[in-house]
Amino acid sequence: MLIDNHNRQINYLRLAVTDRCNLRCHYCMPAEGINFAKNKNLLTIKELKLLAETVVDQGIDKIRITGGEPFVRKDLMELLRHLASLSGIKELSMTTNATLIGPYIQELKDLGITNINLSLDAINRETFEKITRRDQYDVVFGNLMKMIEEGFNLRINFIVLENQNVQDLIPILKLQEHYPVSVRYLEEMPFNGGTKEFEAITWNYKKILDYVRSHYPELKKLESPKTSTSINYKIPGHAGSFGIIPSFSRTFCGSCNRLRITATGDVITCLYGKPKMNVRELLRGENPESELRTSIEKVIGMRAKTGFDAQREHQGVFENSMTSIGG
Ligand code: SAM
Ligand code: SF4
Repeated sequence: MLIDNHNRQINYLRLAVTDRCNLRCHYCMPAEGINFAKNKNLLTIKELKLLAETVVDQGIDKIRITGGEPFVRKDLMELLRHLASLSGIKELSMTTNATLIGPYIQELKDLGITNINLSLDAINRETFEKITRRDQYDVVFGNLMKMIEEGFNLRINFIVLENQNVQDLIPILKLQEHYPVSVRYLEEMPFNGGTKEFEAITWNYKKILDYVRSHYPELKKLESPKTSTSINYKIPGHAGSFGIIPSFSRTFCGSCNRLRITATGDVITCLYGKPKMNVRELLRGENPESELRTSIEKVIGMRAKTGFDAQREHQGVFENSMTSIGG
């Protein structure tokens, strides 16, 4: 079992398989993209398998595959098939922009990978295209509907962006009114590849909740697991639910159970901190498994208590992009 220096059990790995993406969401990276990692610096599927097996043996029982866009990686399914076969993993999930998932929906279902977080920051086509800088609205909605029909457990991540998608904040709830999905509003975080700086956000979780409540005063708070980052609500009569993630306000650090490993092998123990080590050379060296075990234990023993503490590791501006960190 992995226990950090603040007595929090770490059982959840967010594993990025690429930093590349076919969209260019404003809040994530600049129009020209970022300085993407060279292929030789990306962990290979063999390395990702060994890494996952080792941390699962250490007590990780929940893995979320993320990126960049995971499906831009051509050999992704080989990794997913392997992870789905590991008995130590209780939950295998993914975060995706749903542009490229179409051909894999049936196989994902067969593998039992049905917990999918789908990023969708607009219900209006024009807003979607403005935010993502790409013309993929129909593809994303088509795949969303297909996954609903196939009974996937879908969470729709909607980042609330001042002057960009606030007009869609209530309309996006139609999805959970009619279908058993969860719409989750996220506060914007400062990981946009240096596109813009911000110290505060206009749309924090309280303002989001007040706004939704002004339209649906009958909404009810739901019980959520202790390690959940979202505060969840139900609107009576609606098929699904909605949640709010205080990702910038960081009210959930006390129960954080997460470890992040990027596509190049950086180990991140707090989203707001700097990488604590890189496992790529370990995985390519002698005795990778035992080296890895010791190093992971070591960094987990040095975690910042909160995201605010971790943030002090950066001098002022965050220049990194969520496409490298994995969200
Ligand atoms: N490409 C996939 C996608 O968009 O779902 C997976 C990777 S993306 C980096 C993971 C999550 O991070 C997405 O839900 C995305 O909306 C979120 N994200 C990216 N940049 C963000 C930011 N600046 N603030 C808050 N969330 C962000
Ligand atoms: Fe790509 Fe996801 Fe970043 Fe959008 S949020 S640019 S889909 S990695």
